[in-house]
Amino acid sequence: MDLLEYQGKQFFATYGIPVSDGEATSNVDDAVAIADRVGYPVVVKAQVHTGGRGKAGGVKLAENAEEARTHASNILGLAIKGHIVETIWVEKASDIAEEYYASFTLDRSAKKHLGMLSAEGGVEIETVAEENPDAIAKIWIDPTEGLTDAACREWVAAANLNPQATEGTVEILTKLYTAYVEGDADLAEINPLILKPTGEVHALDAKVSLDGNAIYEHPDYAQYDASQPRDEREEAAHAKGLQYVGLDGSVGVIANGAGLAMSTVDVVSQAGGGAANFLDIGGGANADVMAGALEVINNDPAVKSIFINIFGGITRGEEVANGILEAMKRVSIDAPIVIRLDGTNAEEGREILRPHLDDKLMMEDTMLSAARRSVELAEA
Ligand code: GDP
Ligand code: MN
Repeated sequence: MDLLEYQGKQFFATYGIPVSDGEATSNVDDAVAIADRVGYPVVVKAQVHTGGRGKAGGVKLAENAEEARTHASNILGLAIKGHIVETIWVEKASDIAEEYYASFTLDRSAKKHLGMLSAEGGVEIETVAEENPDAIAKIWIDPTEGLTDAACREWVAAANLNPQATEGTVEILTKLYTAYVEGDADLAEINPLILKPTGEVHALDAKVSLDGNAIYEHPDYAQYDASQPRDEREEAAHAKGLQYVGLDGSVGVIANGAGLAMSTVDVVSQAGGGAANFLDIGGGANADVMAGALEVINNDPAVKSIFINIFGGITRGEEVANGILEAMKRVSIDAPIVIRLDGTNAEEGREILRPHLDDKLMMEDTMLSAARRSVELAEA
């Protein structure tokens, strides 16, 4: 669950991390009123679930009400990497002496929390990691031990920040670690973390991702869940009771069983393509379920071919084959379909499908050959 910047700042503020005074709105008049209240200069910031807003014109400084109005109306409705700005955050502008980077994430392979701190902030950390990896000071924290004050100070020293920033940074990192752990976050990032000319250290941006599975322990997270970007495909699929996750590729995938569905997504990548979705139709593969699945996939304009991968178990091959044929009568499908049918009574099922095969309905013997065929068709 990714938080918008202003939600991340509210989350930070509850843990005592200093952020600028500001408010969120979707309305230009309100934006000016907020600016008047916090006092000029202010920064008007697009609230979208993507970074790089500054470069895209989504972060603007306003010296007075007139400028605040202009920026607010320009930023609302702006498209940033395909995300339309519906909300802006107006905050009191800060004077910046230096921009740093700070974050905590989980390092799964090390089974530890990873803290990263760099004197080169304000730019994407991936860029720093590529061009100047030594500029990132890392610390691996054993979750049972936590971040001790001594370890935190050693870490901050290794980052070579301005000495003026040391105390403030230690304090913020300690609070950020608490927020990250107690808040069940997968990521807590401040970029930039700024040193002001007055010597204070302050979070100027917030990127927070909370563990969606932790909602039951944090009822207040429901407010963040409500503003997650919605995938229309997922909503349509979930309404039909299907286990569906939208992905970025062009091969629509239908499989029975979560494990097989995941392998199918993988084998499509292995064949050089990309799955448009993960879709598990469960144990049964009757006409109703299959028609529902085909309908959802068919409505996705990114889908250029469909790969149906079924391993018959309790549901026998002939039932699956009849289900597919019946579903195809009910839904008019645009993309060509490649079927791989295996398992219980697979040959009986294939026998039923064979007379119907043409350039819109194909069959392959193995999962890999079916994946390759689907990828070829998607790219044709
Ligand atoms: P991002 O581009 O989406 O990461 O948005 P940020 O919130 O990180 O803002 C981008 C950049 O705008 C920062 O790195 C700062 O250089 C600048 N910026 C943001 N807020 C302020 C501010 O209050 N004062 C000044 N001087 N610059 C700011
Ligand atoms: Mn940023």
